[in-house]
Amino acid sequence: MPDRNCVALIAHDQKKDDMVDFVRRHQDWFSRWRIIATGTTGGRILETCPQLDITRVKSGPLGGDQQIGALIATGEVGMLIFFVDALTAMPHDVDVKALMRLASVYDIPMALNRATAEIMMNVN
Ligand code: PGA
Repeated sequence: MPDRNCVALIAHDQKKDDMVDFVRRHQDWFSRWRIIATGTTGGRILETCPQLDITRVKSGPLGGDQQIGALIATGEVGMLIFFVDALTAMPHDVDVKALMRLASVYDIPMALNRATAEIMMNVN
């Protein structure tokens, strides 16, 4: 059974400002969750929201996305918010697909953009 109290956050380069703004606006909601984030994304969020409970794994291109995938497989991550930069060519395509696959297999909510993330937050 996935840990419904743990959310993973990942943002590609051009989407990091968007992720920081998104988390800052919803600090109260995020303060109720344990957060796992890829290295740079987590570091950027902590600069703005140092009070949040964020565990950083490796940077995405160095294996952080796969670490989060492993945590989905072991049930430690129950929700995933991944702001993909769709305007870059094949944006870390294999990492995105691998996480989509695991979110599907383990039936956890996954948002690939801000609008979907907002909806997920309203029902969790
Ligand atoms: P980062 O990794 O937060 O360390 O930049 C995210 C990614 O590029 O997948």
